[in-house]
Amino acid sequence: MQKTSTIQRSRSTIQFILILLAIGIASYLAIRFAYQVGFANNDIVAIWPAAALSYWAVRRFGPWAMLPIFMADAINISINLQHLIPIGYINALGNAVAPWLGVILERVWSKSEQPFENVRSTLASLLAGMGVLSLVSASIGTVAIAAHYDIPLPATMALLWQWFLSDYTGCLVFAPLLFTLPQLRFPIHQRKQAVVDAILVLVSMVGVWLVTSSGLSERMGNYPTALLTMPAILWLALHEDTPRVVLGLAILSVGSFMFTIQVVDNLAAVAWMAVQLYIVMIVFCGYVLHALQLDRAQLLQTLARERDFLELRISERTKELELLATTDALTGALNRRSFFITAQKELKRARGVKPLSVILLDIDNFKIINDTFGHAVGDEVLVILVKIIQGVIRDGQDNMARLGGEEFAILLPETPVHFAMQAAERLRQAVEEISFQRPVLFNQEGMDFQQDVRITCSFGVTECDLRATDINQSLVRADNALFQAKRNGRNRVEGDLSITTL
Ligand code: GH3
Ligand code: MG
Ligand code: MG
Repeated sequence: MQKTSTIQRSRSTIQFILILLAIGIASYLAIRFAYQVGFANNDIVAIWPAAALSYWAVRRFGPWAMLPIFMADAINISINLQHLIPIGYINALGNAVAPWLGVILERVWSKSEQPFENVRSTLASLLAGMGVLSLVSASIGTVAIAAHYDIPLPATMALLWQWFLSDYTGCLVFAPLLFTLPQLRFPIHQRKQAVVDAILVLVSMVGVWLVTSSGLSERMGNYPTALLTMPAILWLALHEDTPRVVLGLAILSVGSFMFTIQVVDNLAAVAWMAVQLYIVMIVFCGYVLHALQLDRAQLLQTLARERDFLELRISERTKELELLATTDALTGALNRRSFFITAQKELKRARGVKPLSVILLDIDNFKIINDTFGHAVGDEVLVILVKIIQGVIRDGQDNMARLGGEEFAILLPETPVHFAMQAAERLRQAVEEISFQRPVLFNQEGMDFQQDVRITCSFGVTECDLRATDINQSLVRADNALFQAKRNGRNRVEGDLSITTL
């Protein structure tokens, strides 16, 4: 155990050293590349890729990444820019420390893992991370050079602005690529969209090329040609797929930069600055717009989830309320109101031909049960009675309802009165068999005296008049039959046979 963790640790240390080495080599190549392609001006290097790389490396791998950045810079100065020693080393130190300060401030503002996830993380990255990096790196470099060459203040300020702008443009254009390119995908369902994007980028580039190569841009002062990419940048920014947006923005900004500097013959500092400033403004707006779009998409998603959840809750509640509105709370049988609704439906379903019968039943001497055992046992009896009856009647066909108190009704569709009377008889017998022991209230022998709880019911049965529009008259006849059963000694079934289907 101990051994494997040691091996793992040494392995990850080796990996880490290799990563630092790779960052160092990449930084060096980026700096050299910047010189070779002419991204250098008055010894102030517009080191676009290097600035972006240092931000990415420190944000991704922490303060250790400062080491290879400094080394790469220092080696470059030792080999290629010996006339800048020793101020070049101070500059190299500034370039290494600046991203670290930027990242620290960025983390205070936003805790997001990815720098371009939402408005907060995007602004934190653009303003705190990259902004502070560019400002600190440019300040240290400018102060060192100004002190060394004794440059007057206005020129120093111009130098600072120029330097800052170079670093900032580099960060803005390339750093997002480093963070998001590994996640670049072109899923099949987005291919059409990608083709449209590519065409738009191409058209924008052709537009910039036409304007610059025709000499038109020279008359306009050359610099604002980058603005021609604005519509395409805005269009791309409104996508939700960040890697594709980043790639599009980078192609548009680098492309317009290339076309513009081709026609700007004298690489005067002011020309560089103007072109870079336009690019910075456009790309900045593009990223903020994209971040707003991401936040909006996130919000819509949250809203949709909330809505689904609410709909589910509402449908659950509706079911609960429906159950409450249609059933009797104590026994779970249908309540009086829904009995009449069900009866209405059954009458309709019978369509004047299929016999429909109704059984009314009432517990005999229920008052005595309550008086002997208490109201709670009375309630218990009601619950048990409903269970027993529901066990005997046809499941899913016959409907039982509590009309009130200890009186119940059962609807029996497609049943003539004779069969209904047989069913009532079966019910009567089943009820007669109910028996359980409970303590008796107020007895002389003491509270724990138990006695059998037994009940019987009287039944009144009738067949419904299918020509009637409601069940009221049929219920009156059933009630009369029930009254008859009570009069004839209770615990019996009586039927009203005035309507019979044989
Ligand atoms: P009969 O055989 O003539 O029907 O006599 P009975 O005692 O059953 O009829 P009566 O109408 O005199 O009494 C009905 C009793 O049912 C009175 C009432 O307190 C009781 N009761 C009504 N609803 C409930 C209930 O929900 N729970 C309990 N425990 N008792 C109830
Ligand atoms: Mg009764
Ligand atoms: Mg009663």
